[in-house]
Amino acid sequence: MRIPFIIANWKMFKTAQESIVFTKELKNLISNISHINIVIAPPFTALHTVVDVAYGTKISVASQNVHWEQDGPYTGEVSARMLCEAGVEHVIVGHSERRQLFNETDATVNKKLKTSLTNNLIPIVCIGESLEEHEAGLSLNVIDQQLRDGLANIDATQVEKLIIAYEPIWAIGSGKNLAPTQAGKVHAHIRKRLFESFGKNASISCHLIYGGSVKPENIRELIMQPDIDGALVGGASLDVKSFFEIISGSLMKGTN
Ligand code: PEP
Repeated sequence: MRIPFIIANWKMFKTAQESIVFTKELKNLISNISHINIVIAPPFTALHTVVDVAYGTKISVASQNVHWEQDGPYTGEVSARMLCEAGVEHVIVGHSERRQLFNETDATVNKKLKTSLTNNLIPIVCIGESLEEHEAGLSLNVIDQQLRDGLANIDATQVEKLIIAYEPIWAIGSGKNLAPTQAGKVHAHIRKRLFESFGKNASISCHLIYGGSVKPENIRELIMQPDIDGALVGGASLDVKSFFEIISGSLMKGTN
């Protein structure tokens, strides 16, 4: 059974102090729940503090990016070993905002994936099509290419550990939704591709999560889809009560 992941992507929101307040409140709210994996991805400056506040709880911490080199003259970048030392366990790789605004490509995603896995960080790999690609009926072609190039030369045993977030770019931060049954079909397609490329264990163990305007109002229908194992949540993760409602709405899946 895959225990759902509910992941908060805070993007460039919240100072360290604001992150502490949120995490303490979330700790109280989740004190009685189990069968769910909760991850918070704060900005770099709050990673350490969130790790400290979340210590001993079921909340783990993700970075929103990583560089593929261990050290070096890369101003503004942070390496996997630095993140590990800060207590980070997961890393978001290839978010559409990084692909669109910071020139991330499937080739850099692949390098970041490899370095993360080598350092025992669990990658949350983001894939998904633009509005133009969606309207042209190319969604599955785009996804296939992102999977092929992004996961090139990754072992099947490593794919077992991955979290793949399918996020239609046009649904991110827009309030627009892909119908849950449609999202479920895309996730089933991704799992089929993983089976073809990496075999049964990888396709069964890999977590596939959905992202794109996930809210307390739509999480239940999304999580009911057999191949959706959780959610990557942007806007609705900034408010602790709405994030907790999304967590609560996912619990039905964890106790299956
Ligand atoms: C995201 O940032 O990955 C995301 C899905 O954002 P939102 O939930 O705001 O659409």
